[in-house]
Amino acid sequence: MKPSYNVAMLPGSFDPPTNGHIDIIERSAILYNKLFVVVADNVQKNCIFTAEERKHMLEQILSGHKNIEVVSYRGLVVEFARENGIGVMIRGVRALVDFGYEFELAMTNKQLNESLEVLFMPTSPKYFQLRSSAIKEMAAYGADISPMVPPLVVQMMGNRVKLLTQ
Ligand code: ADP
Repeated sequence: MKPSYNVAMLPGSFDPPTNGHIDIIERSAILYNKLFVVVADNVQKNCIFTAEERKHMLEQILSGHKNIEVVSYRGLVVEFARENGIGVMIRGVRALVDFGYEFELAMTNKQLNESLEVLFMPTSPKYFQLRSSAIKEMAAYGADISPMVPPLVVQMMGNRVKLLTQ
């Protein structure tokens, strides 16, 4: 499918979605006619939520946005872009440490799909410390994660952590 540069995607693990993710998704959606949030259904990553659960959480949280579609995808996201005529991939960057990794990833993705433009969007300052991995650890030790994630995620994390620690 021919790429449209009015259509973007924001891929990630979202395990679980954080306020930082939601912020970058909502800011990206303002810029494009359509934004796909692509939940990576990656067999190699050790996720605490299934791709379906992560997709469901994002769908609920983002239900007010008509131009956002949440999908889960197993495979290379550059292929998802090719199949769906997506011209732009957005990646959020929090700190300089993110940049090195993201830059290399962008180089690889450009080699795999030359028509896909990768753009980096800096985090909003209030979210720059938010990481899904830290949230999982905090939840496992019973810390209050409610300032960092949407209410639905607090609820889903609570149930999951209880199951994991039983
Ligand atoms: P991945 O496993 O692909 O890094 P993540 O779920 O960690 O997926 O992140 C998905 C996207 O959201 C990435 O582009 C990441 O940089 C961005 N992101 C994650 N947390 C934040 C945050 N606090 N502020 C801005 N962007 C973020």
